[in-house]
Amino acid sequence: MTTTPSASAPALSFDPADPVALTQALVRCPSVTPQEGGALALLAAVLTAEGYEVHRPVFSEPGTPDVENLYARIGSEAPVFVIAGHTDVVPVGNEAAWTRAPFDGAIENGTLYGRGACDMKGGLAAMVAAAIRYRRENPDAPGSIAFLVTGDEEGPAVNGTVKLLAWAHERGERFDHCILGEPTNPATMSDMIKIGRRGSLTGQITVHGIQGHVGYPHLADNPIRGMVRLLAALDAGPLDTGTEHFDPSNLEVTTVDVGNPASNVIPAQARAVFNIRFNDVWTPETLAAEIERRLHEAAGNTVRYEVGFQPTNAVAFLTAPGPFVAMVGDAVEAETGKPPALSTTGGTSDARFIKSFCPVVEYGVVGKTMHQIDESVAVADLAALERITHRLLASYFAAQHKA
Ligand SMILES: [Zn+2]
Repeated sequence: MTTTPSASAPALSFDPADPVALTQALVRCPSVTPQEGGALALLAAVLTAEGYEVHRPVFSEPGTPDVENLYARIGSEAPVFVIAGHTDVVPVGNEAAWTRAPFDGAIENGTLYGRGACDMKGGLAAMVAAAIRYRRENPDAPGSIAFLVTGDEEGPAVNGTVKLLAWAHERGERFDHCILGEPTNPATMSDMIKIGRRGSLTGQITVHGIQGHVGYPHLADNPIRGMVRLLAALDAGPLDTGTEHFDPSNLEVTTVDVGNPASNVIPAQARAVFNIRFNDVWTPETLAAEIERRLHEAAGNTVRYEVGFQPTNAVAFLTAPGPFVAMVGDAVEAETGKPPALSTTGGTSDARFIKSFCPVVEYGVVGKTMHQIDESVAVADLAALERITHRLLASYFAAQHKA
């Protein structure tokens, strides 16, 4: 790993306090994981010019590509308000299917198009723009603003946020609160703040039988019969009934494989894979133990099987509603006219790593087109997110004055 102090910033052709211009500039950097694509260099230049101390640590791990990351901070005092995000994007897919070039950032009828427009260059740009405007207006504001930006969220996520957090901690950086700008809203900017995420656990079952002729079943043992019994047991009852802020945990069998092309052969083995999205009732360990218990009970003495679990760092977590969550919700409501729902739905995110360092909530633009052909963001939503973030920073640091 190396850290390069940022080079002197090249002149920009736009004002980075403009969230739309900054989103366009970021979309024009083709930063498909693990390529930096110029996106972090652009942010480094922007933030350096605004007085931030900027670092660009590069992390490595055997078997994965090196990834560039960015840490920037303005101010030397506590509290440290962290804005987190990623500049990497998923591949464009079938480029011919795009109706606008995926790295042009074209604006038509109030919509900005391009890969990463909503996930999450738009969200990050709006928050950077808000932080710039806030500090320009309040050069003597108390506390600090820090940016934690990774180039490895959409890829293996090995050389990104996990290592960046450890790197910052090692340097003595301490964080008080964090907002992660992932696109949390299903349809409108007042829809949803995420205050936690479910965990994820994947397991695989192998049932062993004895291969044989279907006409002589007494000489064979069909493993599919045992597999059906085990899967029925996993599907038989709910894992839990949900908690105050979480839906019930959910198990989905994602594949059942026998691979037997012959209709007159009883196969020797059957395999299945399942994934569980679980709430804060469970840890990966307690959940694995419960699955093992259910399988053991269903198998009795007749089904010969093995069950294994993939290692996971996706634990369930919750940032309990309190003053910080309320402050984010109030900022959203003040700018959109509606209080957002506090949700723990959806997939996993880098918030699961940040939560070990400080309370974290997620809020960003509308995510309807994320990872799709013709990914886009409404220009009005970028402006709204800039205003919401500015309002949040103002009330956060005003509260420090009073404290
Ligand atoms: Zn994302």
